[in-house]
Amino acid sequence: MEPDPAAARHTVTHCPVCQSTRLQDRFSVQGFGVMRCEDCGLMLTNPQPSDAELGRIYGEDYFLVENDAAGQRHVDTLKQGTADLYLDLLAKYASLPAGARLLEIGSGQGDFLVRAQARGMDVTGVEYSAHANGIAQGKLGGRGRLLVGEVGDVPVSDGPFDVVACSDVIEHVRDPAAFLERVHALLRPGGIVFVATPTQDSWSARLLGRRWMEFKPEHLWYFSTATLRSLLTQHGFADIVDHAGVKTLSFDYVAGHFARYPVQGITPITNFLRRIVPFGLRRRPLRVVASGMVLMGRREDAPSAAS
Ligand SMILES: [Zn+2]
Repeated sequence: MEPDPAAARHTVTHCPVCQSTRLQDRFSVQGFGVMRCEDCGLMLTNPQPSDAELGRIYGEDYFLVENDAAGQRHVDTLKQGTADLYLDLLAKYASLPAGARLLEIGSGQGDFLVRAQARGMDVTGVEYSAHANGIAQGKLGGRGRLLVGEVGDVPVSDGPFDVVACSDVIEHVRDPAAFLERVHALLRPGGIVFVATPTQDSWSARLLGRRWMEFKPEHLWYFSTATLRSLLTQHGFADIVDHAGVKTLSFDYVAGHFARYPVQGITPITNFLRRIVPFGLRRRPLRVVASGMVLMGRREDAPSAAS
């Protein structure tokens, strides 16, 4: 092999879901190959960005959607709307006692934790951005606990938790199997894992093919319902249910996303509509099933022997 800057990238040799080595090139996105496991259908970025490349991608403004205060409040409203939809799914899945302990991995600016707290839960968040954690702390009014770091930085002695939730996180982690093992260790037996992530089964993935907006280098894995179910089962979770990932979005939010991550054939349309649709309409919260799924499961008392 010729030496080149890609040497620092991580080459995946086998599928983290089914261990197959039959990973086949499909296409590339922003200079990164996208492969598909011929045995289970998991798709992955491969080779994967180096730590330095990920550091540049997750710069200060990675989560910055709006620059002004009104715009930020609008985004908070949408995110809390999505949190309520997710918490409704959780409540349908299991009845949780008041004061149930919930940990969110990748808690960002705390909107999910705010809504969970409003439902009487005792909340903890772990988030690698200290800046985002500061904002979350303010929203939680000093109640709830926030740690800076990743799931591995939450001491198992801080558990057990009744619920561990993560939204738009598992597709970013280097080792999704190790991630779920850690989640398992942090839950009480019977405790609930809640995972939201983009899915290949979504209408947007089917419609857009390789132009799907979720294909980006920092998304290391592209699950489907079947592959994520399989991974959860292998790592000691049972009673798994899946739902389409409903989010609360507005036209403005979606158009802003497509302005930032241009998609051929779509961005010109959203840019055009952004100029002609009245402001009030552009910011009206809408329930949208776009590209995601939600899976929930329970920690089995005895982890399966699969790993
Ligand atoms: Zn596979």
